[in-house]
Amino acid sequence: MAASKPEYLINDSKYSFLKELGLQETNLGVFDGTWKGSGKVVQSICPSNGKVIAEVKQGDVSDYESCVQSSTSAWNVWADLPAPKRGEIVRQIGDALRSKLIPLGKLVSIEMGKILPEGIGEVQEYVDICDYAVGLSRTLAGAIYPSERPGHVLLEKWNPLGLIGVISAFNFPIAVYGWNSAVAMVCGDTILWKGAETTPLVSVATTKIVANVLQNNGLPGAVAALCCGGADIGKAMAADKRIKLLSFTGSTHVGQQVGVDVQKRFGKHLLELGGNNAIIVADDADLNMVVQATLFACVGTAGQRCTSTRRLIFHENVYNEVLGRLTQAYKQVVNRIGDALDDSTLIGPLHSKQSLEKYKETVAEIQKQGGKIEFGGKVLERPGYFVEPTIVTGLKHNNPLVHNECFAPIVYVLKAESVPEAISCNNEVPQGLSSSIFTQNIGNIFEWIGPKGSDCGIVNVNIPTSGAEIGGAFGGEKATGGGRESGSDAWKQYMRRSTITINHSKDLPLAQGIKFE
Ligand code: NAD
Repeated sequence: MAASKPEYLINDSKYSFLKELGLQETNLGVFDGTWKGSGKVVQSICPSNGKVIAEVKQGDVSDYESCVQSSTSAWNVWADLPAPKRGEIVRQIGDALRSKLIPLGKLVSIEMGKILPEGIGEVQEYVDICDYAVGLSRTLAGAIYPSERPGHVLLEKWNPLGLIGVISAFNFPIAVYGWNSAVAMVCGDTILWKGAETTPLVSVATTKIVANVLQNNGLPGAVAALCCGGADIGKAMAADKRIKLLSFTGSTHVGQQVGVDVQKRFGKHLLELGGNNAIIVADDADLNMVVQATLFACVGTAGQRCTSTRRLIFHENVYNEVLGRLTQAYKQVVNRIGDALDDSTLIGPLHSKQSLEKYKETVAEIQKQGGKIEFGGKVLERPGYFVEPTIVTGLKHNNPLVHNECFAPIVYVLKAESVPEAISCNNEVPQGLSSSIFTQNIGNIFEWIGPKGSDCGIVNVNIPTSGAEIGGAFGGEKATGGGRESGSDAWKQYMRRSTITINHSKDLPLAQGIKFE
């Protein structure tokens, strides 16, 4: 007997905003210029209540193939547009996103589980990067270098790569795509996106908005193609020579394999992988700022940001005071755990049942190894995937649990005798994404940002580890993968560099004065 259909949230009047995004009970999850989907049907689950929002028909191998072919041929049209014209299309995409800011932000909240201001903030981040990319479209500058040969000109020029792939993680279901696609589009690339299997509705709704803009301008929709799917589609992208750059955001474990597969075919990759971010508190720090900043960085997004704080390294002189004040602050926010869409909620759910299991396993292992749960440690008995934010003491700084990224609101509190000892503790983990120090001492600051300071990609002073701005390059070192996205010169990764020497004389002098006569 066929299983009865669940009651989809999309049909509940509380979620009517989903229809404004063109979503239905069953949605096609592949876009290659037309919508299709011949693969598995997946249900999108709302982590705030465990109910099915709606379902999506993913892509299979043949859908993937048609996406690659359509997007490759769309490139022939797209790459011919002057960069400022491509910028104008991205400007229109930013405007289209602005007009859907609230419904799309709400969708991010109900599908991923982050609270509404963060859901809206994520869409806003895509809007902001569109604005940034519009400016960039007029400043993708090359260079002219002095040639050592008379009658010669030495130039550097940047050209688009072609088709690029974007594989994104569940925790930033739209912003990561935005960072990559807005910049890649002005650079002249076309994009094939595969989002996380558990956030397919955000992928579909976002692609509909982008596709509308492209098609209203008479451009092929496959400039921004989508193939919803799981590891099978991701693996096909990693192995596919036609994908010139693969931008992968996700766990270190999966990203390492993706990096190897892309390297095997001499493709380019951009890896944005796991973090294990620490805040150091020196004994001269402003402790009011510390408590406020630490609270947001540890419990915000229920600990599911790649930049969430996982380790707190307190100077021994302030250890007891900061731990005491932080525990008090946790007691206050724990009453504000709830449905991601509710105005009063500060901490939403974990994203999935799997995340909840991982939290439970980690808490059990912490206790087995002699760690002390100073606060939290429990799963909440209610529908959805809710846990208490958790503070752990008593584990050594080099315990393997402390070196591992558990993607949940668990923070390990460690003690250091000095700032140099705290810095070495910050640097000893495999990952190298984000890091912060709270201090008012200028010597500490320059130690921290110098050659023997933090070895992370993001090095903050008197602000927490999370909440990066788009203007800087975002990414991390070591097991975080080394990639950089968003601002600064990250655009160069989406282009290929040509070093061009033009001889406008009648002679053929060789470089380095070599004579070959
Ligand atoms: P994940 O590695 O499980 O999945 C990420 C993506 O990879 C998903 O789209 C998934 O379908 C796909 N995938 C799975 N197996 C694959 C394979 N064999 N080949 C190709 N693709 C495959 O990660 P997740 O649980 O979705 O996300 C959480 C992780 O992402 C955390 O480690 C977090 O730190 C990291 N993250 C990092 C950044 C950053 O910028 N550094 C940003 C967001 C998330």
